Amino acid sequence: MAANPVPAMLWLVAFQIGLHALAWLVAARLLREERRALLNWAGFNALLAIGLVLCGMRDGERGWWVYNGVNLITLLAFGLMRRGVELFLRSGRSDLQQALQLAPWVLPLLLLPPTTDWAAWRVLAAFGGQAFVMAVTAWSLARPMHREFGRWAQLGLVLPTAVIAGLNASAALRQVAAWPVPQEIQLGTDFNQGLLYAYLAGTACFGVGFLAVVTQRLTHRLREASQRDALTGLLNRRALSEYLEAQWHRHLRRRYPLALVMVDLDHFKLVNDSNGHAAGDAVLRRTAELFRQHLRREDLVGRMGGEEFLLVLPDTPKDAALALAERLRQLAHAQALGVSMSLGLTMASADDGTAEEAVKRADAALYRAKAQGRDRVVCIEPPPGG
Ligand code: GH3
Ligand code: MG
Ligand code: MG
Repeated sequence: MAANPVPAMLWLVAFQIGLHALAWLVAARLLREERRALLNWAGFNALLAIGLVLCGMRDGERGWWVYNGVNLITLLAFGLMRRGVELFLRSGRSDLQQALQLAPWVLPLLLLPPTTDWAAWRVLAAFGGQAFVMAVTAWSLARPMHREFGRWAQLGLVLPTAVIAGLNASAALRQVAAWPVPQEIQLGTDFNQGLLYAYLAGTACFGVGFLAVVTQRLTHRLREASQRDALTGLLNRRALSEYLEAQWHRHLRRRYPLALVMVDLDHFKLVNDSNGHAAGDAVLRRTAELFRQHLRREDLVGRMGGEEFLLVLPDTPKDAALALAERLRQLAHAQALGVSMSLGLTMASADDGTAEEAVKRADAALYRAKAQGRDRVVCIEPPPGG
């Protein structure tokens, strides 16, 4: 009979997974935002590696640690993996709830003696527990992954998790079929070797996959922060200019009407002077909220600076834009914003050399509204021929 290759494989796999643990530790140090999840995953890989090392030390003498201990440590490792996933997803599933679900699998491993006559029961509890944890993790991942990161991330993380769950479940079933002969992992069966390869592949997929989505989440957050005005949450001037540019080209290509409305709060300085800067800030935030509530999804609003806002309304003819501007003006009164607003409207035209020219015209319309006494909408038509 060929020499059993599994003990040597155990060491190798433990070494590789130990490296994953180190990598997660480094990542946790670097990526503060997701540190708790990452530390759980470092723990997952570390415990898994320790479990495999202990398993490699099985030599026929039935010590508690190399038998029950290995099973417990491995199950705990999978528990940490799940805990990290729940933290990363902000699922709100409590530690207690997760621990209670793990308990039925942990108890037999704690209570049964490490002897050969109980080995089959322990194998069943260990693989059954792992299968259970992997299955609930795959289930937890499925929807949130798709929602936040899309189809590929969902597939890339849920599929390997489900495959490992399936392998663990079949290991448990094989134990049932072979009853009462224990099917412990150090036995050099083809299935056990395959299982070790699956652990290697699984932890690698897990590592690369989660590092990718963690990075994606942080990049998304950075991009958001760089595009938003901190006080109102509206687009900042630079981001709005970029979006406007895109809408401008779309308007030129497809000849869709594109309306621009420049809004400025009236006598805003008075709010600050009489009620304080914080009250002024509150008015700005309420104004932003008013825009968010009454514009369509495809409309863009940016804070151009101070108490001045630009609305970019794609596919909006002049009459509709005028009606919207007038409604916003009235809402400023109805919602007791504390100030009135002046609005300058124009339509983009193919004769404008750049989007910036249309913005200037909206600005001129706003200036006229101010000159005519404020609290009104003024529209300036683009020059004829456009
Ligand atoms: P007008 O009707 O002509 O627009 O008068 P106004 O007082 O609104 O315009 P003005 O440009 O004289 O004053 C704008 C004020 O907006 C001055 C500035 O202190 C205030 N402001 C600019 N940014 C902020 C901010 O972020 N928070 C607060 N509270 N005030 C701001
Ligand atoms: Mg003003
Ligand atoms: Mg102003």
